[in-house]
Amino acid sequence: MLGSRLLEAENDVLLERLSEIVGPANILALSGDMAAYTEDWTGKYRGEALAVVRPASTAEVTEVVAACAASGVAIVPQGGRTGLCGGGVPVPGKPSVILSLTRMTKIRSLDAAGRTVVAEAGVVLETLQAEVAKSGLAFPLSFGAKGSCTIGGNLATNAGGSNVVRYGNTRELCLGIEAVLPDGSVINALTGLRKDNTGYDFKDLLIGAEGTLGVITAAVFKLFPEPTARATAFLSVASLDQAIEVLNKVQDRTGGAVEAFEYMSQPAIDVICRAFPDIRPPLEGTVETGVLLEVASIRPADGRVLQDGSIGLQNDLMEILAELMEAEFIVDAMLAQSERQRGELWRMRESVLESITANGPAHILDISLPLANVATFVTEMDQEAHSLGFQPLTIGHLGDGNLHYALAAAPSYDWSGLPLETAKEVAFALLTRLNGSFSAEHGIGQSKLPVMTKLKEPAQLAAMRAIKTALDPNNIMNPGKLIPLK
Ligand SMILES: Cc1cc2nc3c(=O)[nH]c(=O)nc-3n(C[C@H](O)[C@H](O)[C@H](O)COP(=O)(O)OP(=O)(O)OC[C@H]3O[C@@H](n4cnc5c(N)ncnc54)[C@H](O)[C@@H]3O)c2cc1C
Repeated sequence: MLGSRLLEAENDVLLERLSEIVGPANILALSGDMAAYTEDWTGKYRGEALAVVRPASTAEVTEVVAACAASGVAIVPQGGRTGLCGGGVPVPGKPSVILSLTRMTKIRSLDAAGRTVVAEAGVVLETLQAEVAKSGLAFPLSFGAKGSCTIGGNLATNAGGSNVVRYGNTRELCLGIEAVLPDGSVINALTGLRKDNTGYDFKDLLIGAEGTLGVITAAVFKLFPEPTARATAFLSVASLDQAIEVLNKVQDRTGGAVEAFEYMSQPAIDVICRAFPDIRPPLEGTVETGVLLEVASIRPADGRVLQDGSIGLQNDLMEILAELMEAEFIVDAMLAQSERQRGELWRMRESVLESITANGPAHILDISLPLANVATFVTEMDQEAHSLGFQPLTIGHLGDGNLHYALAAAPSYDWSGLPLETAKEVAFALLTRLNGSFSAEHGIGQSKLPVMTKLKEPAQLAAMRAIKTALDPNNIMNPGKLIPLK
């Protein structure tokens, strides 16, 4: 009793100190005020926090981290709360403060000649895209949650999305970071140098660390020329293996212009059209292997408008697709004729997660495979899933071998009676056999800790634990995430 009163008094002192640092308006300590921050996007993870603290500068983050470290209170960094693995909410058993970066929204500088931008962690991805576009350049990271997720969260999860096939993950887009380590020290590596071989690269340690090694406060990113033209099509391809052939043929013919190559199975399309009745399937009839293909060019000649009003790149893509249909790689195709049609195709693709959620309970595996093994995985896993009573709803960023393989209940099966653990075991065994990964782009968070323990190579796990212990000996930085305890 006395112990808990002492603890309460210590917590009060800490909250008072945090309030001094960020100002009373930027600390929330009532459970009603904190409700939105303590639950993750999936609704599966909810945690308790002493407070939500919202610093506005790196200096304030430093002071918050130092105060929490001195009190032995854990820090849970949080961005837009769109993470899908329970990484951004506290775990039970450790007094925690949620450190929300959403007030750190400055774009500190944009170097158009050097093609870099320095942005703070709380900048929303879509805002960064829009700001960069004003200078005629592009920041290519993009996916369905772009209107809410922050670049700090993107870095912490090494987010992927639809354009990885051309530009890489967040890691490949980042040239340096500023971060506050668990002891309150600051790493300032925002020079934007493209070559800097001076030892361990801390950005690469913090990217994908899911907030377990420090708080990312800002980053410098590469920018790219804004494409002069885009051409977008929806294809029905005879099989997944042939889809990979289509990808490579389009890459060869366009000089590597593919920006997105997104797979959608017919059951996934059906679920989207049910959840959003105004979304129409782009092609008549059943699609064997649906692909949303987008090519983009930066060559001015590809953006030329021809006499008949058509655009060079679109004509070129039409020609390539016609040849692939002739060669029976493609069964049917629809080329977007306007920005509106392109927008409709992307709306369909980006509505998939909400549609699967609206459809009913499902478990979504976020996995990756070598391109040559994607079809084998889907064929074998579909058979297993059906035999266990599941309906697979599969979509994915096929261009980079990433599948979101959702296991939902097949019609006439009750989700609660289905052997989900068995299905997961089967999937993970298949992935191991086919050199795949059990976690492609969403991260580990809390939800994938059991499989991390089971499948991550022991030598890599041991090295990760050693790094964690060296930088965060008291385990105050986002405990209970990413790294399983022994
Ligand atoms: C509809 C939808 C579609 C999605 N599609 C994709 C997709 O295609 N590809 C993809 O990769 N992901 C996707 N996601 C997952 C999610 O959007 C990404 O993981 C995103 O990068 C999370 O950013 P956030 O700002 O919301 O982070 P949060 O959810 O707030 O946090 C995620 C993790 O990052 C840590 N973190 C957040 N900010 C910081 C910081 N500044 N410093 C240190 N750690 C920090 C948190 O502690 C947590 O562990 C999707 C999510 C939704 C809801």
